[in-house]
Order: sequence, then structure tokens, then C-alpha cells
Amino acid sequence: MVRQELLARSPHVREGNFTRIAASDLRLLFELYDRRVFAGALSRALGELDGLGLGFRLSRRMTRAGGKTYFRPTPGPDRPRYEIVISSHLLFSNFQGPNRPVTVNGLRCRDRLDALLRIFEHELVHLIELLTAGMSSCRAEPFRELARGLFGHTDVTHRMEIPDQRALRTHGLRVGDRVSFVFQGIRRKGRINRITKRATVLVEDPSGAPYSDGKRYLKFYVPLQHLERAEGREEP
Ligand SMILES: [Zn+2]
Repeated sequence: MVRQELLARSPHVREGNFTRIAASDLRLLFELYDRRVFAGALSRALGELDGLGLGFRLSRRMTRAGGKTYFRPTPGPDRPRYEIVISSHLLFSNFQGPNRPVTVNGLRCRDRLDALLRIFEHELVHLIELLTAGMSSCRAEPFRELARGLFGHTDVTHRMEIPDQRALRTHGLRVGDRVSFVFQGIRRKGRINRITKRATVLVEDPSGAPYSDGKRYLKFYVPLQHLERAEGREEP
């Protein structure tokens, strides 16, 4: 129902595996859920109809969580009191052609739009808890009961592929691997410290910043395809 209405009304989300989305689509989604599922109770609880106390944002940098809901006791002009953020990175990096089955909150998602709706529903439960109790935790039982009762969620996590898993699948690389790469004509050796869209590689160097192991490292952000596996994995 919400799915069909969003497809009919959004200027960007025109198909199940949509290729464009804007923050305005998240606001539209909120209005649809508020009306269809909550008979307007959410916007009434927010104490307004123009929705200024509730902001929506898409994040390309959120690479692990599907969504997040923020509560700020002291809001500002660009910082709404409540804010729902959805990871466009995860949505768009998944559902690219044939893939392993994706579940979000325990429910099978046939396409990108299904995943968006399940993530958004989870964030709505956070919003409800924040509005009613001032705090929210999806690890606690009350959250799980509410999510199950309202949306049939049987779990509170997503099984979309995150950057670490993709790096392992496509390039056989993981955090801790020793790698080498060429930067400004010089081959450097280091260790993968983090993987987001690129790998963060720490290279031991006297001019680098001090780290907790007492050594100094320079930090490089390297596209995965430019990395070569060096000998040995995870140093002690
Ligand atoms: Zn959560």
C-alpha cells in the first residue's frame, strides 16, 4: 500500500530498483506511513503539521547501518530535533543485478524499494520510542515487540552487503591484510586498517602520526583495485 503510493507519487522512486532518491522522498514516505499506519498520530505527537521538527537526510557515508534516527534536545536551524537518516550507500551498492537474497529486519526484500521501506519502518519505531519515552534501543525487548506488532519485523538487523564483505568477495581483501600499492611512483607497503568505499592503509613512516602501538604511520585511502596482496596476513 505504502509501496504503491510512493511509486505513484514520488518524482524519483519510479520502480522497485529505483536509481534516484531525494530527501523529499523520505518526507513523503513519512507522510504515507503517518496517515496509513498511524492515522496522523506521529505528526500530532510532533506537534506540528509542517514537519519542521523532523528532518530527513540520505547519507552516502553511512556504510554499515541502514538507517539512524537522531534526537537532539537542543535543535538548531540546520539541526532538527528529530532526524531520520537513511544510507543511500547501502541501498545503491546492493541490488545491482543478481545477488544473494537480502533480508532486512528478518523480512526478505525483493528489491531496493522493499529494503528502503523495511529500514524506514525500523527508524519509525525509533522515532515512536523517542517521542514517547525520550530514549530508544532496538536491542531491547519493547522495541522488538513494537516492530513486530506494527510491521511484522522478526529481527532488527539488515543482511545487506557492507563494504568489508564486498571487498572480500570482489578482491579477496580484508582488514588486517598486508598490501602494497603505488603512490606518486613509489611502491609502498602497509596494512589495511579499515574498508569503506576505499581501503584505509596504514604505512609505517617516521613522518607519520603516532599510533597506540608506539609506531608512526601515514594514512592512505586507496581504491581496492589498486591494492596488491603482500605476503602474510594479520600481524601479531
Ligand atoms: Zn535501530
